[in-house]
Amino acid sequence: MTFIFSGFVKAVDPLGTQYKIHDYLAAWGLAQYVPDLMTLSASVLLSALEFFLGICLLFAIRRRLVSKIVLVMMTIMTLLTLWLAISDPVTDCGCFGDALVLTNWQTFWKNAILLGAAFVVSKWPLDMARLISESNQWIVMNYSALFILLIIAGRSLYTLPQFDFRPYHIGTDLRAGWQKMMNGEESPYAEFFMETADEGEDITEQVLNSEGYTFLLIAPHLEEADDSQLDEINRIYEYSQEYGYPFYCLTASQEKAIVRWQDMTGAEYPYCHTDDITLKTMIRSNPGLMLMKDGTIIRKWSHNALPDETEMEGKLEEIVLGQMPSDNAAKKILWILTWFVLPLVVLTIADRLWAWTKWIRKGKKEKNNNPLIEEKVIMRKKIVAGNWKMNMNLQDGIALAKELNETLKADKPNCGVVICTPFIHLASIAQFLDQDIIGLGAENCADKEKGAFTGEVSAEMVKSTGAQYVILGHSERREYYKETPEILKEKVLLAQKNDLKVIFCIGESLEEREAGKQNEVVKAELEGSVFNLSEEDFRKIVIAYEPIWAIGTGKTATAEQAEEIHAYIRSIIAEKYGQAVADDTTILYGGSCKASNAPELFAKPDIDGGLIGGASLKAADFKGIIDAWK
Ligand code: PEP
Repeated sequence: MTFIFSGFVKAVDPLGTQYKIHDYLAAWGLAQYVPDLMTLSASVLLSALEFFLGICLLFAIRRRLVSKIVLVMMTIMTLLTLWLAISDPVTDCGCFGDALVLTNWQTFWKNAILLGAAFVVSKWPLDMARLISESNQWIVMNYSALFILLIIAGRSLYTLPQFDFRPYHIGTDLRAGWQKMMNGEESPYAEFFMETADEGEDITEQVLNSEGYTFLLIAPHLEEADDSQLDEINRIYEYSQEYGYPFYCLTASQEKAIVRWQDMTGAEYPYCHTDDITLKTMIRSNPGLMLMKDGTIIRKWSHNALPDETEMEGKLEEIVLGQMPSDNAAKKILWILTWFVLPLVVLTIADRLWAWTKWIRKGKKEKNNNPLIEEKVIMRKKIVAGNWKMNMNLQDGIALAKELNETLKADKPNCGVVICTPFIHLASIAQFLDQDIIGLGAENCADKEKGAFTGEVSAEMVKSTGAQYVILGHSERREYYKETPEILKEKVLLAQKNDLKVIFCIGESLEEREAGKQNEVVKAELEGSVFNLSEEDFRKIVIAYEPIWAIGTGKTATAEQAEEIHAYIRSIIAEKYGQAVADDTTILYGGSCKASNAPELFAKPDIDGGLIGGASLKAADFKGIIDAWK
């Protein structure tokens, strides 16, 4: 919420934020090297980014990436504000624009608290509860980005800030404020003065005390002022002349720029000098127009949105323009609630309702047949993972991954999808794979951390490619590369140390099955390599039961055979770690799984998906298996 608020109040006043960035650059002696366009773009993009990250956090969108960005951002901001608090180069850090002014130390402590929160979020990103399902997150992201960039920042830049937090907002009694200052009381208008440009006479009191309407054309720097609306300004000046309303141009520019402006416009309104910071505070437009009535500001216009002729027919006393506008802050907040907050709330409710009905339907499908046993809906993750083994050169592998990526982006899967590829494919595929839809994994990693182990690839190296998964304990590695339970135990520890999710394979040979030893074998394999893990670490493991006699042979365990041993595996996990962990553990089936037999296998309550070898080498075949979850 802090990010959303702070991004919003800065985006609503892009010029104010730009001035602040300029102040920072000036404090570092860099202001003259950075063009205005760059500081303005930085102002809009930084505010929008902050707002956007806040929305992503709130909706728990792209949790891992967003929480990392937030942590990096908060680390930088905390260090920066510590420096600000110690060396005091600017009085107000500007983190909440003009909406909420904090001292530099207050800002530092605020950031220290947010840094702590960012750390928690980045350590446990997946514990953030999603407000909206993954497939609908793009709507929230695009809608929020468009809203903050176009509707808030863009519109505020083109017209004026939709919310004005500065001392010169509409409704300000400038006369009273100025009088306060004259009485020696504290007042934000101490810097306001009007001095005629030709004779240097101070006419502040005279202007503020004059009864009726006064137009103030405000141009902090005439040499930089936008001259596209000169005719419009002249028309309003003529209108003021016709009805006898005073009209002044307030600027910080010197004679040369004033003369140039006079030549361009041909208009003869009087010029007054005012402090340039005050002018920039008064109106976020160069030039902008202000209308005062009896010393009170009643209207402000950007040069892009000046009132047209139809609005100025008759005396100000008799037309709408001469009255205080009716669109107050409450109305504007209501507008934002209606057009931004409400659609997101409706979307969230619709999404949750849909998820809920899906959950109910799934719960019915998995219903326990025994009415005496309390029905519980299990929500563990369904996964279809491909194991490419030693197939495909780099080019073919990339082509397959691209095809799969496009296919699943167009038709979102109803389960987690992972492809595990040879090492050499990983880095290239990680570049384009949408890992929110398809996870990427290796087929193996070394049992050593690093060093002189020629030809080996460590878990850290796998992780550095962008992969998130690794298959360990595959029967082909156990058999051909003599990987023992001890070696696998080391590999699992190293993989987890490097934040890789392990797909751990277990399964019996044909002789063992024929001897009825399958339960014994899978139990020993679990005990030998993963039952040493803490509950927290075991929860990160995905088990793949792969009867060796079914791998690549075309022979599939029947759905009943597979279910029986899956249920057994779950029961020994429950014995070791408790029922809750067992209920949450994903157990995949592997061994000649195809699109034709996947639906029957996956319909079994303890089969949570598949580890697919041969059928993962063609996008259409693999997709057929993934669709078994639909
Ligand atoms: C495998 O090796 O993990 C596997 C299940 O292979 P296949 O699907 O080709 O039997």
